[in-house]
Amino acid sequence: MSNWAEVFKQTVRTLAGMGFPEAEAEAKVITAHVYGGDFSSLCLRFFDECDRKQEVERITEDRLSGKPLAYVLREKYFYGRRFCVDERVLIPRYDTESVVEHALVLARENGYKTALDLCCGSGVIGATLGAEGAFRTLCFADISGGALTVARENVRRLLPEQPARFVQSDLLENIDGPFDMLVCNPPYISAEDYAALEPQVKEYEPREALFADHGGYAFYERLARETPRVLSGNGALVLEIGDGQADRVCSLLNENGFVKIRWGCDLGGRPRWVSGLKGE
Ligand code: GLN
Repeated sequence: MSNWAEVFKQTVRTLAGMGFPEAEAEAKVITAHVYGGDFSSLCLRFFDECDRKQEVERITEDRLSGKPLAYVLREKYFYGRRFCVDERVLIPRYDTESVVEHALVLARENGYKTALDLCCGSGVIGATLGAEGAFRTLCFADISGGALTVARENVRRLLPEQPARFVQSDLLENIDGPFDMLVCNPPYISAEDYAALEPQVKEYEPREALFADHGGYAFYERLARETPRVLSGNGALVLEIGDGQADRVCSLLNENGFVKIRWGCDLGGRPRWVSGLKGE
């Protein structure tokens, strides 16, 4: 029987041999997943016999088809927590952690108690706000019923005590409010950029979670107009944005009466979020 170190090295070789550029990082995630802990704890057991080699091989085989690793494993870590994901939701990106971090700063500064995670997908934003912040109630909304099912499962598992509502809604169509804070990572990829995305993203991730009309600004235009209706006085709108979208999104918030408009970057130094407060 092989030990874990051998199984790990074989996984790296298999993935690298098929041209996967992140072979080592992915082999770490796969072996740690099968081991049932993080990779550093697996390293302490590296020379123990591995009785789950077949499972590692099955997962690696599945990954070789081109399916994103998060869908193969049906999980993705976000802000230190494990979220269940499948093809019904966009795979959470680490860039989104900076959006949540800023939302938490605003919530602390202003004592916000209610929040809406709009276009919630797997629910990573709202669930992280619930786990890290001090919100009395949370609401999760998405146009996709499938996404809401995934979000509900994640929230129930991670925050069993948190009062939360789940609403199927085309943006704010079925939403009343008021909320102290609305955080949204809307689709923002333009037709041109969508065409240039990696095949893995286009083939597997939901297009409706990524693509936006009007050069990528369709949802920001609607959000800037429609969100004041569901925000409390002094409430905040926090939006994830794509590279190069900060100026125009800031202008949209300004044109729609938002104040204290700010933008900031992700850990890679790229502009990633814009926020504004509804006036008093
Ligand atoms: N809110 C989810 C995320 O940040 C999904 C976003 C989306 O579907 N556009 O991952």
